[in-house]
Amino acid sequence: MLSLSMKADRVSGARARLSYGVLLALLALISGWLVVDFSREADRIVAERSRLAIHRSQLVNRSFGDTFLAADYVLRDVLGRVNMRTDLVYPSRDAGVAARLDALLKDKVATVFGLTDLVLLNSDCMFVSAANRPPQGARSRQRFCSGARVEPGQSLHIQYMPAEKSVSGRPVVLMSRTVGSPEGVLMGAAMAVIDLEFAQKWLAAFDIEHNEILAIVDDEGTLLARKPALPEAIGRHTQPPAHQPAFRDVDRGMTFTAVSPIDGRERIIGLSKLERFPFVVMVGFDKASVLSGWQHRAWLFAVGYLVLSGLAVSALRVHLATRRQRERLRQLAHTDALTGMSNRRHIMDLGLGEFSRARRYGNPLSVLMLDIDKFKSINDGWGHPTGDRVLQELAHVMGSLVRAQDLCGRLGGEEFALILPETDLAGAVTMAERLRQKIEATEDALAEDGSVVRFTVSMGVASLTDTDHAFEAMLQRADKALYQAKEGGRNRVCRG
Ligand code: GH3
Ligand code: MG
Ligand code: MG
Repeated sequence: MLSLSMKADRVSGARARLSYGVLLALLALISGWLVVDFSREADRIVAERSRLAIHRSQLVNRSFGDTFLAADYVLRDVLGRVNMRTDLVYPSRDAGVAARLDALLKDKVATVFGLTDLVLLNSDCMFVSAANRPPQGARSRQRFCSGARVEPGQSLHIQYMPAEKSVSGRPVVLMSRTVGSPEGVLMGAAMAVIDLEFAQKWLAAFDIEHNEILAIVDDEGTLLARKPALPEAIGRHTQPPAHQPAFRDVDRGMTFTAVSPIDGRERIIGLSKLERFPFVVMVGFDKASVLSGWQHRAWLFAVGYLVLSGLAVSALRVHLATRRQRERLRQLAHTDALTGMSNRRHIMDLGLGEFSRARRYGNPLSVLMLDIDKFKSINDGWGHPTGDRVLQELAHVMGSLVRAQDLCGRLGGEEFALILPETDLAGAVTMAERLRQKIEATEDALAEDGSVVRFTVSMGVASLTDTDHAFEAMLQRADKALYQAKEGGRNRVCRG
């Protein structure tokens, strides 16, 4: 049988583990919910910014596209005023024609903001006439000049020309309208030169946030202009991430997040394509800046949550420690320090409880009083500490023999009581006799020198009768029977 304090320790240990388990599970649940909620919020913020990036790029695109529409309009107009067969001859044999073409181009180039030159090319792609630079027999290096067939009638070609290939020595976008014969042979072309300086200046008019970028790329991914300006990056090729469609397939708008190869920052990118023209405007919001407010809130929450969790755990610890202490004090007040059994007061309380229960339900109840025989002589012969060990051994033997529902207690000195619920007199006597024999046979009580100290006990047993109106009445009968056992020669059981 476990001592009272051991039982109490086990119960309070299990209760503490349960309380900590519940608290930790609760904290884990809340933190899981917070993590999910915060990551959803981050996703929401990124999604919102992605939409904004597309809108912004569409806005930038619309006003940028006006320049290309106007340039194309000028090209159509110029071609409408040129005779393909007679005018596009180089060198011109007719000074009048040359002067008329020069004047026409000069006049038209001034009508579109952003155009740096307007040029006419002949069927060999030779410069026939230009608004700003005299034709010097140079040959254009555009793709359609490579000898391949062109579309019959008019068709539009747009090409980025890096500084080293450009006739002007500056990076430009060339926008040309070719005229092809029904057989697809080039007859001539009008070409508008748009200096990238223009796109760059034009982007400068837009306000951007810290670490935001605005960029214009052609549909092959060539970077044409960028804000903040980065001249060395112009002309570089960039591609959308692998799982995204290529720039030329960008429809109305597209969005993704990507790490910039230029500055290594992760950005939320929104793209939109210029209608009819192979240009894509890209707006990139810096992801870290976009999420900085969210991140700040997340940190505050995390720190606050950790502090609160710490407080909750320590409050629980204090609460459990106080309860444990209270429990221990209560146990101490109930327990006999030497044997760990219930003390007199507690066993009397328990006896009262069992007595009223037995009376109420009409169940049998027995009580057993036990006294060590000649204990004085054990003390005198072996010493008081050995006497104590005998008391402990007796408690141990009692504990090992009783059932779970039986209650043992030390009434004082070398006197003990055993309360046996649901046990009639015959059962109690049998139990007492078994106990007596076991005690008589025990060799586990040892003196200081290791000698076995043998001892015997006398017992008085009484059971509940209809005339018992108080627990004490039963006890008195048991006590009387114990007295008889002593009188009768000790080491015996008497019934009362
Ligand atoms: P009997 O009951 O057989 O008539 O003889 P006895 O010698 O046991 O009787 P008595 O009640 O006179 O002696 C009880 C002794 O128990 C007296 C006391 O010194 C001793 N005693 C009481 N409490 C303790 C204790 O906690 N430890 C020890 N070692 N002895 C105790
Ligand atoms: Mg005695
Ligand atoms: Mg005694």
